[in-house]
Amino acid sequence: MKVHEYQAKEVLSKFGVPVPKGRVAFSADEAFSIAKEIGGTVVVKSQIHAGGRGKGKFTSGFQGGVKLAKTPEEAKELASKMVGNILVTHQTGPEGKKVEKLYITEASDIKKEYYLGIVLDRARECNVIMASTEGGVEIEKVAAETPEKIVKVWVDPMLGLQKFQVRELGFALGFEGDTMKSFGGLIEKLYAAHEASDSTLTEINPLITTPDGKVIALDAKMNFDDNALFRHPDIAALRDITEEDPLEVEASKFDLNYIKLDGTIGCMVNGAGLAMATMDVITLEGGVPANFLDVGGGATTERVKNAFRILLSDKNVKAVMINIFGGIVRCDIIAEGVIAAAKEIGIRLPVVVRLQGTNAEKGMEMLKSSGQNLLTASSLQEAAALAVKASKGE
Ligand code: ADP
Ligand code: MG
Repeated sequence: MKVHEYQAKEVLSKFGVPVPKGRVAFSADEAFSIAKEIGGTVVVKSQIHAGGRGKGKFTSGFQGGVKLAKTPEEAKELASKMVGNILVTHQTGPEGKKVEKLYITEASDIKKEYYLGIVLDRARECNVIMASTEGGVEIEKVAAETPEKIVKVWVDPMLGLQKFQVRELGFALGFEGDTMKSFGGLIEKLYAAHEASDSTLTEINPLITTPDGKVIALDAKMNFDDNALFRHPDIAALRDITEEDPLEVEASKFDLNYIKLDGTIGCMVNGAGLAMATMDVITLEGGVPANFLDVGGGATTERVKNAFRILLSDKNVKAVMINIFGGIVRCDIIAEGVIAAAKEIGIRLPVVVRLQGTNAEKGMEMLKSSGQNLLTASSLQEAAALAVKASKGE
């Protein structure tokens, strides 16, 4: 689960990580009063689930999703140009994201910007801390062009972050004296926050030093492990569904594992492994899947109906491929669900169905005699070939 910068900073400050003070605003008027309360120069920051806001551009033509404001009046003026508008950054894709909230925060005096990130290294089965003197800019670019400028430290989950590792990171960033001390405190708290909140990614870009030797987290991004949210009700409450894909939100209401992709063939499959294999075969046949969808082992008529409805509401879908293996679930039940859904929703697209396993023949018979326009296939390859052809209008 992703959260906004202001929410990540709330989590981090609970653990004592130093962040500039600030508050969230939903309107230009609120931005004005918060800027007045903070006093001095503030920064007006668009809150969307994507980075690169500083260099982003609004579809209105207004440049920059992160701006300095010297007065509350200026903060209000900038806020009115951001809130309610679509911000496009290198992370949002060309369609951009609508800005609904702003973070009004005190402006910090920046001596230098650094990068600091903690992420799970699945291959090494532990967290890796990455640090770089090339902060503030796109870290993806640094990783691609000058990977030697990123220092990595792997943390043993049993031992935790060690002092020598803290020093190693600090020296790599060129810190000494008070700045080194300040950095040491920050990284230990940041790591504690990452572990205790079951974060899968904690990224501070930029981490900054101030002229008086302090180290502060100026930006913050945190992603949390969905499977651990049950033990963090306070973090689970930070979920902002307006930032998520509406179809994925709808699917999660019915416990369907649905991930939207950008192809044209809607897939409905039971079991994650079979769903992956189905997507592979579609690709092999020259098509592009529009989604990943696992209806689960215990697919009922109701689930199939909802899954079908969600698939068809994706405007990019040109053909549907249903691939079900009847193990726990019986194929005739699936056929019943597909027919019921087809009757209720109405099929405007070619639908290819492949059923295998328990009661497969009965299910196929039901589909063929349903009077609905359903194409059937017995092998996975054949089904994929049919779906790909149909998706291309052939
Ligand atoms: P994004 O990563 O989405 O572009 P950031 O929060 O990193 O957003 O902001 C972009 C840049 O804006 C930073 O690299 C920094 O130079 C400047 N900035 C952000 N917050 C502040 C702040 N509180 N004070 C001063 N400058 C800031
Ligand atoms: Mg940033």
